[in-house]
Amino acid sequence: MTTVAAYAAPAAKAPLERTTIERRPVGESDVLIDIKFAGICHSDIHQAREGWGTANFPMVPGHEIAGIVSEVGPGVTRYAVGDRVGVGCMVDSCRECDNCRAGLEQYCSNGGPTWTYNSVGADGEVTHGGYSQKVVVDENYVVRIPEGLQLDEAAPLLCAGITTYSPLKHWNAGPGKKVAVVGLGGLGHMGVKIAAALGAEVTVLSQTLRKKDDGLKLGATHYHATGDERTFEDLKGTFDVILNTVSAPLDFGAYLSLLRTDGAMVNVGLPEEPVNIQLSSVFGNRRVLTSSNIGGIPETQEMLDFCATHGLGAEIELIRADQINEAYERVVASDVRYRFVIDAATI
Ligand code: NAP
Ligand code: ZN
Ligand code: ZN
Repeated sequence: MTTVAAYAAPAAKAPLERTTIERRPVGESDVLIDIKFAGICHSDIHQAREGWGTANFPMVPGHEIAGIVSEVGPGVTRYAVGDRVGVGCMVDSCRECDNCRAGLEQYCSNGGPTWTYNSVGADGEVTHGGYSQKVVVDENYVVRIPEGLQLDEAAPLLCAGITTYSPLKHWNAGPGKKVAVVGLGGLGHMGVKIAAALGAEVTVLSQTLRKKDDGLKLGATHYHATGDERTFEDLKGTFDVILNTVSAPLDFGAYLSLLRTDGAMVNVGLPEEPVNIQLSSVFGNRRVLTSSNIGGIPETQEMLDFCATHGLGAEIELIRADQINEAYERVVASDVRYRFVIDAATI
C-alpha cells in the first residue's frame, strides 16, 4: 500500500478537504501513475453533493486524469515508465460480456463498470479518483496521451472529450450536417470543437449571448440565446443532431421542435431531477430522443488521437487544490471557461 495525499468530500455537501488515502500495491497488470492534472467535471459535483442519490464518503472525485507512468507490474505490455497516460471514468469491468468485448465497457452487462471513484472494485474496496497524487490502474483501462497534446489540456478530454465525441460519431455529425450544442460549459465547449473538426455546421444554444465570441472561436458558425423566445421560432426544424450538455432539466418539447425529420437529440447532461416530455414532440417527425454514457476504452484512445491530430485541447483554468470548493461554486453558477483543472502538484 502507498499513502498519498488527496482532496476528499468527507460527507455529502461538505466542502472538500485535504486528506490521505491508500493506493493498492502495483499488481501484475497494473500501472502506477503520478497524477499531474485532474479536471473538474460537473458529475463530480452531482456525486459529492449526493445529487444522484446515496454515495460513498469520504469521496475523492476526479475522472479526468492525466499523468506519467512511474511503475509497471510484471505483466504490463502496453506502457513503460515515463509514458504520458490518461484515465477516464472507468477503471475496470467484467471483460467478458458482449459489451466489454465490443469495447463498450461503459455498458458492461455484469453490473456496469467499476467507476474511477464512488464505486466498489472487484477487491471490495471503494474507488478513489483523480484529486490525488497517484493512482494504480489496470493497464487495460489506461489510455495514451499523444505527444501533440499538453497534459493539462488533455485531462478534460478523458470525460468531456469522449462524452461528446462518442455520440457525435454515433449520430454521424460531419459534413453536410447541422449540429446544435446546448450549454457552453466543459462538455459543451469540447462538443463544439469536435463537431466542427468532424466537419459539421455547428450552432451553440446558450442561455445568453455572453460567451458568443468564445463560441465562434471554438468553431461554431451560429450562436443563439435560449433565453430569447425568437430562437425557438427561428430555428424550428433545423438540426440533424442536438447535443444537450446541460446539467439541469430543460423544456424538452421546445428543443425537440428544433430537430428536422429523423433528427436526434442526444442528452448527455444528467440533471438530478426526472424530466418530462410529451411524446407529441417526437412522433410528428420521427424524431429520436436519446442519451449516451461517456465512451469505451478503444474509442477514448481514438478520440485522443483525433484531438491530437486536430490540435483540440480543452480550454482550461488551472487551479490549486485549495481552490476546488470555489471552483465547484463557479461551475454550478455556469461561470466556467471552460474547464477547471487541478494542478496535482498543489495537493
Ligand atoms: P458544466 O461545465 O457546468 O456545463 C453545463 C452548462 O449547461 C453550463 O455551462 C451552462 O451553459 C448550461 N446550464 C447550466 N445550468 C443551466 C440551466 N439551469 N438552464 C440552461 N442551461 C444551463 O457541466 P459539464 O461538466 O459540462 O457537465 C454537464 C452535464 O453532463 C452534467 O450534468 C454532468 O453530470 C453530465 N455528464 C454526463 C456524462 C455522460 O457520460 N453522459 C459525462 C460527463 C458529464 P450556458 O452558460 O452556455 O448556458
Ligand atoms: Zn465527467
Ligand atoms: Zn462486461
